[in-house]
Amino acid sequence: MSDHIKLTSHPHSGSATQAGQVHWGASSALARGPLVASLTQPATRNVIGTHSGSYSVYRALAVASGHLDREHRPDLTNTAPVARIGPNPQWTEPGKIISLDPWGHCVSEVFAEQIAAGLDVRPSIAITKAHINMPELKDAITAGRLKPDGDILAENGDVRVTKAAIDPVWYLPGVAERFGIKESALRRALFEQTGGMFPELVTRNDLKVFLPPIGGMTLYFFGDVEKLGKPETKVACRLHDECNGSDVFGSDICTCRPYLAHGIEVCIEMAQRGGVGLVVYNRKEGRALGEVTKFLVYNARKRQVGGDRAETYFARTECVAGVQDMRFQELMPDVFHWLGITRIDRWASMSDMKHGALVAQGIEVVERVPIPDELIPADAKVEMDAKKAAGYFSESVPEAAELTLAKGRGLDE
Ligand SMILES: [Zn+2]
Repeated sequence: MSDHIKLTSHPHSGSATQAGQVHWGASSALARGPLVASLTQPATRNVIGTHSGSYSVYRALAVASGHLDREHRPDLTNTAPVARIGPNPQWTEPGKIISLDPWGHCVSEVFAEQIAAGLDVRPSIAITKAHINMPELKDAITAGRLKPDGDILAENGDVRVTKAAIDPVWYLPGVAERFGIKESALRRALFEQTGGMFPELVTRNDLKVFLPPIGGMTLYFFGDVEKLGKPETKVACRLHDECNGSDVFGSDICTCRPYLAHGIEVCIEMAQRGGVGLVVYNRKEGRALGEVTKFLVYNARKRQVGGDRAETYFARTECVAGVQDMRFQELMPDVFHWLGITRIDRWASMSDMKHGALVAQGIEVVERVPIPDELIPADAKVEMDAKKAAGYFSESVPEAAELTLAKGRGLDE
């Protein structure tokens, strides 16, 4: 490779690329065509952006510092998925899946010939197996709520799971349609709000697929994954948006980890009854506002006159971030379409936005499972009251007077 910088903003000579056009939603992987984001064979590229989401920046550091050969191509020997997912009918239904590549886990199989011929096609999804163990699950065994079965759940609290990591792959016309906006408006905002990082967003209207530099999601499956997509299979699910402070460190200002642990309990029960449990973990820290914004909001909440209380919970976020929430659940149902899920029997979530997004995409939610009151930390009462008052699923909505009470701890307590 020469030392010249190759601009991506305009087609390379002979731009009818070797990879060919992408026919998103086509009836087979071959008809859709491989997605090629190769940085070393620019003429073959048929997408905007690059693999590995935000980690592409670390890859840049590795190349710049001489630790990684920029020509390196992954050796995919033995990396194939441990469980078969799809193809499901939703993969080719127009508009159903627009934010991930349904063939992303099996590219080394379906595009084997193209890869052997030298085309740089890479997986955007990987599926493996693991054991997980959380102290809350041991507590549930001790309390008699969960019973070890020696298969899914062991005496020591180990749980056998299958897990999948998914990098986002956006089909821009589909994303624009989902949000009811013009593709040109979406492209322009993406270009401008990333500081002009991907010029092709505005110069290459012929490229319709974008690998955005953001975090993806992880799926944890409990029970037999390959039963998904069959109408008789009962499904329990917790859809969880990342909250590192609570999920990992047990911070008590919110209900995130308790609800996640409860959701996993619901998933294990479902798997033990012959169904499948699914936790979807989205990298959307702090309502996709990020942790810096989140911690600024915590301070604003706790220092405001009148103390930390539900009636000003959303207003304090809006003061700092300009909006209450940027998770935009519109794209979230795609993963259920990918798995062939049309009905969720037990849905461990109280969020009206998540529920609304699923229903809008034609996915039936049979039973909504709220977090049990005894699992809500004291400092998280502010958040819970505010969310219930704003329309979260609940058996009881707090009275207006409740919302004015300072229930959150002060910063120095
Ligand atoms: Zn949280």
